[in-house]
Amino acid sequence: MEPDQRGLNNHKGKITLDFPVQYLKGIGPKIAGILRRQGIETVRDALHMFPRTYEDLRTTTTAEKAEAGKESILIGTIGPVRIANTIRNRRTILEAFFNDTSGGVTLKWFNARIDYLKSSFPAGSKVLIKGDISFFRGMKVMIHPKMKLLTDDEEFLPKISPVYIEHEKLPQFRLQKLIHQSLPATKDLEDPLPDGIREKFKFPRLCDAIFHVHSPLNSDNLDDLINSRSINHKRVIFDELFFFELFVLTTRANRTKESGISFQIKKSITEKFKQSLPFTLTTAQEEAIREIYKDMQGVAPMHRLLQGDVGSGKTVVGFFAALLAIENDFQVALMAPTEILAEQHLKVAQNLLQATGINIALLTSSLTNSERREILSNLSTGKTRIVIGTHALFQDDVIFKNLGLVIIDEQHRFGVEQRVALKQKGISPDLLVLTATPIPRTLALSFYGDLDITTIRTLPPGRSPVRTSIVTEEEKDELYSFLKKEIEMGGQIYVVLPLIEESEKVDLKNAVSTTELLKKRFPDKNVGLLHGGLRSEEKDSIMDLFKRREIDILVSTTVIEVGVDVPNASIMVIENAERFGLSQLHQLRGRVGRGERKSYCFLATEKKYLNRSIDAFKTIQRRLNAIVNTTDGFRLAEEDLSIRGPGELLGTKQAGLPTFRYADISRDFELLTLARDEALTILKEDPGLNKPEHTKLKTEWERFKKYASAS
Ligand code: ADP
Ligand code: MG
Repeated sequence: MEPDQRGLNNHKGKITLDFPVQYLKGIGPKIAGILRRQGIETVRDALHMFPRTYEDLRTTTTAEKAEAGKESILIGTIGPVRIANTIRNRRTILEAFFNDTSGGVTLKWFNARIDYLKSSFPAGSKVLIKGDISFFRGMKVMIHPKMKLLTDDEEFLPKISPVYIEHEKLPQFRLQKLIHQSLPATKDLEDPLPDGIREKFKFPRLCDAIFHVHSPLNSDNLDDLINSRSINHKRVIFDELFFFELFVLTTRANRTKESGISFQIKKSITEKFKQSLPFTLTTAQEEAIREIYKDMQGVAPMHRLLQGDVGSGKTVVGFFAALLAIENDFQVALMAPTEILAEQHLKVAQNLLQATGINIALLTSSLTNSERREILSNLSTGKTRIVIGTHALFQDDVIFKNLGLVIIDEQHRFGVEQRVALKQKGISPDLLVLTATPIPRTLALSFYGDLDITTIRTLPPGRSPVRTSIVTEEEKDELYSFLKKEIEMGGQIYVVLPLIEESEKVDLKNAVSTTELLKKRFPDKNVGLLHGGLRSEEKDSIMDLFKRREIDILVSTTVIEVGVDVPNASIMVIENAERFGLSQLHQLRGRVGRGERKSYCFLATEKKYLNRSIDAFKTIQRRLNAIVNTTDGFRLAEEDLSIRGPGELLGTKQAGLPTFRYADISRDFELLTLARDEALTILKEDPGLNKPEHTKLKTEWERFKKYASAS
């Protein structure tokens, strides 16, 4: 479409993409400053600010025809805003008279700011109003109308109008005016997408897509626009995902060219370790070890994600990898998301690796200076072979003699940058990431294109699935007698509370009061409390008491979520289960059923959340039912994907993925798959993007790379 067909020829092409927004009409230095903080400096930036939603202003009526009780849209002139009345407790009523050629309507506001209204809608200006018409003393009235100032240069035609994210001091009409002036520059937008791809998906050109995202056609479908499903939206979203996939795929390709360490299987320590294990490895574990060893033997640094359900025995597999590095005289860093977990890993490692006599150190932030100094010195001389720790492992003063392998437990708490920071402490060390949050394969491939994936699908033998049921407040007595019986038969119980308030203090109060309540209910039992506010020695000593069965019921906030291993614990009670996500529920449930005892998980919730006729609670019900009905983490992950969508499932931020500007992975998953396929095809025929028809593509891709590594 030519620009003049869009009625924009009056700008005569003066405004270019690089034009600073500051010099647009109605902007000026002050507003430009606000815009700059939103990342908008040029017309190009402004065009990339997409509408938050759209308003249907296609069907206008007149003051005369507007009917009471119906939402009406009118266009006319507004008179002066004045104070009509001040009633008791100083509630002010503001009024203005609106008229079009057919008649008038009184506009009313309660407790609004008169100066704001006066300056936003000066008397005599042309406005569009939207709201319900009612009658008051025989007059047509519209209370709290939605209003749009119609600017002089914008001959208003009834249409679908974009609505942008407003900011304080940056009201809607200013944003609309900004975009309105920027629109002509869309004709200069280069289209980086190869024509073949564009034609294949019947996508519009980029310039038209962006133009129509801001200025929809009357024939567009309103719902599609609001949900970013219009073909114009899809086109822009596709671009973003396509460049993301090009980035992920090329990163992977570059890595396989890197040269790292080729470990050799010497069987000196690994074999001894295998003999010393109190159990036989499952076939799945053997298979995983084989895959990992194959990577480690290769020249390119390993980059592998080991995923397996809670309790599937990933830790042991991780130790096999560690020992291979150690028998090749390299050091290993094992990183855990929390101190409790780091300490637990240390104990397991000390226990399992006792026979090997390997020096293992724990590096956390709660060490004294002299303890820390000693550990650091042992790391730099190479005396310490395995160091286990939390984020403390990243610090600059942590220097290794020869770091050969980095193992990261629980992928989701670590970002890409942290992964890179730790890797840089060795000369291209191998990387193994363990995660208990299974990611559906399609999604994993799209996101962790730079990681290879091994999956452990079966649990070690002898585990019986945890019986899971929902309990309501009314059934608590029954639950408590069940808990009592279980304790008397030698079992132990977790009671987990969600974080409810923003404030740690209030959460602690909840935890304390639950503990008190349980102490009263079970006067002859030992009830302990574990929460995030405790120092790590305190947490430690409580966990120790629990492991030694000196605590029967352990009340805890979600600090125990990942990885804690007390095989004698047989019941997990999750309070306010409706507040937890599916994967969190699954993780928590995974804390029981780890030993011989028959285990149970109780999801405590309020009756109201189970009421099927309330739509708002549907997803809660789906979640709770899913967790009751299946114990397979992969099936739960798929279910989670369908309930929440992949974006939330991955927790984009935590997972260290770039946050997208337009794409929403839960909504645009299909587009992501298409984008990936296209990126694969292109890279297969032109890995360096050097063909002339890919010049524009390469420029854009390089821009994306910069953006991705900066974010
Ligand atoms: P994950 O880290 O995958 O959640 P862990 O490695 O903590 O699981 O293993 C859970 C428990 O199962 C641990 O107590 C571990 O010693 C035990 N275990 C691991 N592999 C086996 C096996 N092959 N047979 C029996 N028990 C095993
Ligand atoms: Mg684990």
